[in-house]
Amino acid sequence: ELYNHIQETKGNIRVFCRCRPLNKDETSTKSATIVDFDGAKDGELGIITGNNSKKSFKFDRVYTPKDGQVDVFADASPMVVSVLDGYNVCIFAYGQTGTGKTFTMEGTPQNRGVNYRTVEQLFEVARERRETITYNISVSVLEVYNEQIRDLLATSPASKKLEIKQSSDGSHQVPGLIEANVENINEVWNVLQAGSNARAVGSNNVNEHSSRSHCMLSIMVKAKNLMNGDCTKSKLWLVDLAGSERLAKTDVQGERLKEAQNINRSLSALGDVIYALATKSSHIPYRNSKLTHLLQDSLGGDSKTLMFVQISPSEHDVSETLSSLNFATRVR
Ligand code: ADP
Ligand code: MG
Repeated sequence: ELYNHIQETKGNIRVFCRCRPLNKDETSTKSATIVDFDGAKDGELGIITGNNSKKSFKFDRVYTPKDGQVDVFADASPMVVSVLDGYNVCIFAYGQTGTGKTFTMEGTPQNRGVNYRTVEQLFEVARERRETITYNISVSVLEVYNEQIRDLLATSPASKKLEIKQSSDGSHQVPGLIEANVENINEVWNVLQAGSNARAVGSNNVNEHSSRSHCMLSIMVKAKNLMNGDCTKSKLWLVDLAGSERLAKTDVQGERLKEAQNINRSLSALGDVIYALATKSSHIPYRNSKLTHLLQDSLGGDSKTLMFVQISPSEHDVSETLSSLNFATRVR
């Protein structure tokens, strides 16, 4: 009863928390795990903050380090499929660098993540429905770095700055951004590879660069109902956010300072937008960052939002872990 009531009133935002396993270094130095998963089945998570103190959190789902890509996608899948029913959907991964954002979204060739599984499922469901609905699917891949949009499918560096414009139907577009038409999962795979190769160009350390930029995949779906001729357009965003960690004060100068400020600004803007939506505020501050401005059509209204908050199990990361869990709790 009560649970159903909460589900109905809390709107279209879901928060899933995922904890990675201890890594090799942490295992070899016998680093302690500070996460308590006893209540994980009920969406509860505890962080041991001292000898006898524990902070408790509640999410829609909690994944332990033992849960795999299949378990995670099983829970996300109803939401991604709803883009084929005309809903706008946004899924993003938030957390400190090294906690598994890219693992959850992209995964590895042996262990595919949400992005690949999503597209695979979209094609499968579209095929099942082909007698009644014709779907046209296209994808864009971009990154936001230092509040600038970069088209990762562009073959030559864009001469013009990419900006967000509102079109006559009220939706938000980036004129000039490449939208690749895709017919099957292999074509999508090629597009994703091209995007990820482009990400590396011009940065001397790919991992560092990707932890400081938001990587965004947009899947546009046009549906035509063959029975009544109705057409709908909807959009699914899959976002691997920049790392949420605070840089050490001593590291922060020059270009790094600017990067850090832009990341802080956009992640707080995201938190503010989701908080404003959750509390049904009359003003939703979408325009405070490129990230929220881009996601505008897929955050709020009857669109559906899923946030993965990624955490480390290690005692050494406790303050970043608490900060991520607090961020996620605020938006829930
Ligand atoms: P981020 O994108 O948040 O910086 P990564 O996705 O690159 O973090 O993850 C850091 C490392 O941890 C990678 O080697 C990744 O394969 C591994 N990893 C993360 N999450 C998991 C998980 N749930 N199971 C197994 N390995 C994981
Ligand atoms: Mg990453």
